[in-house]
Amino acid sequence: MIQDIEPVRLDNQYRNVAPDDGDMVFFFEGSSLLGRLDEDIINVPSYREFLDGYNGSDADNHGDRDFDFIYLFALVMPDRTENRFFLAKPVISESNIAKGSFQGEMADSAVHIEYESCWEGYEFTGVNLFRKARPKEIAYASITAFHLYGWYRDNTFCGRCGHTLLHGKKERMMFCPVCKNSIYPKICPAVIVAVTCGDKILLTKYVGRTYKDYALVAGFTEIGETVEETVHREVFEETGLKVKNLRYYKSQPWGLSGSLLYGYFCEVDGDTGITLQEDELAIGKWVSASDIDMIDDGISLTKEMIVKFAREHSE
Ligand SMILES: [Zn+2]
Repeated sequence: MIQDIEPVRLDNQYRNVAPDDGDMVFFFEGSSLLGRLDEDIINVPSYREFLDGYNGSDADNHGDRDFDFIYLFALVMPDRTENRFFLAKPVISESNIAKGSFQGEMADSAVHIEYESCWEGYEFTGVNLFRKARPKEIAYASITAFHLYGWYRDNTFCGRCGHTLLHGKKERMMFCPVCKNSIYPKICPAVIVAVTCGDKILLTKYVGRTYKDYALVAGFTEIGETVEETVHREVFEETGLKVKNLRYYKSQPWGLSGSLLYGYFCEVDGDTGITLQEDELAIGKWVSASDIDMIDDGISLTKEMIVKFAREHSE
């Protein structure tokens, strides 16, 4: 899976530190990352490159914006050396709403073009690049940085009183100096469910997703329910099936949707007839293990679970 980057380790302990010249900088606009792909090898600018590029460019061209550099995490190499990563976050105040910053995926391409002129050789690429980009630890760092970018972007102002938030000094949190509201990173629990019936597994395709391969039943946990209840509810809502014998498999942080996925295997309980929830699923069907030709791409929990089932249930 994407997070399996041994022998490298992601040290996510928060540090209240400023960047050095050689530290690496993640800069996102909307759902795109400033980087350079050489073949499938991904590079992001160093702090020095980022500053030189920005300061050396025409300030009138891209607007008068400065950046906060927020420590994200470090990749610890087998020899214990560290690569540290920072988030470049445009400074935003009540009187200065940054272009693109509040448009999420709609951040318009004009913003990208203005910025790209700053850093020669770098361009904005959709964050989906992590599915193919190497080395794997940088791909994983990118999707994790994207999760944190979204959280920092959406927590500039206090949601309780509207005042500008400040950074916590000892841990990763934002706090409000006026009403004392404190905000911690948001991680949304969700389930990935492999429903099985003998040597068959329930495979799905979701409506309107860019991801086109077969998937498993999936959905977010609602407030007031357990993860196991999410499994029962999501399977029933999407397919009309009841399930039993839930077995927890593994979890996976999935920064694209800001979630933590819990993988479960379970068996259909009773009637195997599928009633699709058509606004969610385009396809939902039983597939025999021996008919599955999917390859585990080393990225997603979903594929690992499907391939594991196929391997264990086909002759
Ligand atoms: Zn407040």
